[in-house]
Amino acid sequence: MPDSAETVIVDDGSDDVERILVVTAHPDDVDFGAAGSVAVWTSRGIEVSYCIATDGDAGGSDHSITRAEMAAIRREEQLLAARAVGVTDVTFLGFPDGRVTPSLELRAAISRVIRIVRPGRVVTQSPDRNWARIYASHPDHLATGEAAACAVYPDARNPFAFPELLEEGLEPHTVPELWLMTTERSNRVVDATDVYERKLAALKSHASQVGDGEHLDELLRGWMGGTALAAGLPEGRLAEAFHVVNTA
Ligand SMILES: [Zn+2]
Repeated sequence: MPDSAETVIVDDGSDDVERILVVTAHPDDVDFGAAGSVAVWTSRGIEVSYCIATDGDAGGSDHSITRAEMAAIRREEQLLAARAVGVTDVTFLGFPDGRVTPSLELRAAISRVIRIVRPGRVVTQSPDRNWARIYASHPDHLATGEAAACAVYPDARNPFAFPELLEEGLEPHTVPELWLMTTERSNRVVDATDVYERKLAALKSHASQVGDGEHLDELLRGWMGGTALAAGLPEGRLAEAFHVVNTA
């Protein structure tokens, strides 16, 4: 028996949240997956923070610069991209690119940021491999998504998890909803048509990865237009999709 089709809601979920934390593996991940939604949220006065597990130091194919130089470039690019969609609070956790595992160390690091930011929503990468879009399922993405899910439930809310956080004065915090990017099946779609140019600008900020970004417009319009149409939006609308999980 096939799974019953889940209802897809078109709603950016701005009404019930004041702060949102996005947790991803690499600089540029949030911009491919969710920067349109981020721009919608910040334009409605919601504070959005980023937490990025690595500095993206294994990215690109340029052998003429050191990996430390690449890390510095990619951090700068991500700060620029964040500003393009209204985000100034960006935390880099400094785990090595290409070697991320859903370790207790990463769970603790994400839990620390959750307890500092105290978001009403965490957006992260799906911990499940999407066989239809294998490039979205980089092992670092799966590991970061898994660690973020563990941080949302149970670590950040459990006073006995990572007692060092409590010693730092960071009280437990319950995140009531988790939004997963790049899932095979989504139940939520955000119409980002009106902020599309800001998403494009955010992605173009990652020059070390996307070059002059000439191909991005066509790529994004294809993806986001398809997502919008699949959700029943009219031709010409551009959207991002998520799987929203109730974690209250
Ligand atoms: Zn990535």
